[in-house]
Amino acid sequence: MLKKLLNLPLNELMKLASKERKKRFGNIITYTIERNINYTNVCIAKCKFCYFCVDKEDKKAFILDFSELEKKIKELIAIGGVKILLQGGLHPDLDIKYFEEMFSFIRKKFPNIYIHALSPAEILHISKVSKLSLKETILRLKKAGLQSVPGGGAELLVDRIRNYLAPNKISSKDWLLVMETLHRLGIPSTATMVIGFENYETKEILDTWEDRFEHLKKIKKLQEKTGGFTRFILWTYQPQKITFAEYLKMLAISRLYLDNIPSIQASIVTQGVEGAQTALLFGANDMGSPIIEENVVSSAGIKFKVSKEDILEAIREIGCIPQLRI
Ligand code: SF4
Repeated sequence: MLKKLLNLPLNELMKLASKERKKRFGNIITYTIERNINYTNVCIAKCKFCYFCVDKEDKKAFILDFSELEKKIKELIAIGGVKILLQGGLHPDLDIKYFEEMFSFIRKKFPNIYIHALSPAEILHISKVSKLSLKETILRLKKAGLQSVPGGGAELLVDRIRNYLAPNKISSKDWLLVMETLHRLGIPSTATMVIGFENYETKEILDTWEDRFEHLKKIKKLQEKTGGFTRFILWTYQPQKITFAEYLKMLAISRLYLDNIPSIQASIVTQGVEGAQTALLFGANDMGSPIIEENVVSSAGIKFKVSKEDILEAIREIGCIPQLRI
């Protein structure tokens, strides 16, 4: 099926994926208002493509203070936010107690804020640092307030690619195992995929269509077993090396192939609002969240790089109806 889809012209794929979106969702396009909060930038994995992580001795290293976390959530609530996306590096010293305290703190102070946090790589790392089984780690995090898990860090679930880009990060097998365990313990997650990685030696694109299809097959197979993926999100490696047409092609193929995953999210982060609007015509039914500008002086409150109004306008412009989701 995947090879057949790949050989279709782009306009044909657009028609099929768009039809599929309309069949599933009519003219409703969802969005959310969430804030991406990083609890630490210290990470031992040192993935080739990461500009975020530092060593714990680095001057820029931080662990988020709970008072700062509280301030960030209050600012989010002030602009109608409903959800936090809480992620960080693989810190060698943060064990499960830090996360239990953090989630309990949020639960107590902000009972209505939805906690979407910790990728599979982080969860596996926490279990190792804490010397706990994966199952016990997840159950304790859930009890403390974890509600769902972002599919970040999947990149491409192809070991050839992972061994080159991120040899110290979670393997494909373990990523799938953590997701399966989460789903079985009642924690849903999203699934992600990143395409267009760079081979840093040759400057060529690293991933092939075969690699991308291997990733999709693994996601679909796990979904058949657990049904725990709520949404699929496709990103492109930045700075983007592939064409926009290739992104749209991959997106439409994903919508058509992943028939057991309910929702497909357009990527405002990598394609901008206009790009994400076009993605809605290629099968996506979700716009994600406005993007909050973090580097503003605290007295000025928070600002947007992409506002809620930008998203609503983009949805309405194509004749659809925006609907807020968690
Ligand atoms: S695991 Fe995440 S934070 Fe750590 S180096 Fe890799 S991409 Fe960066």
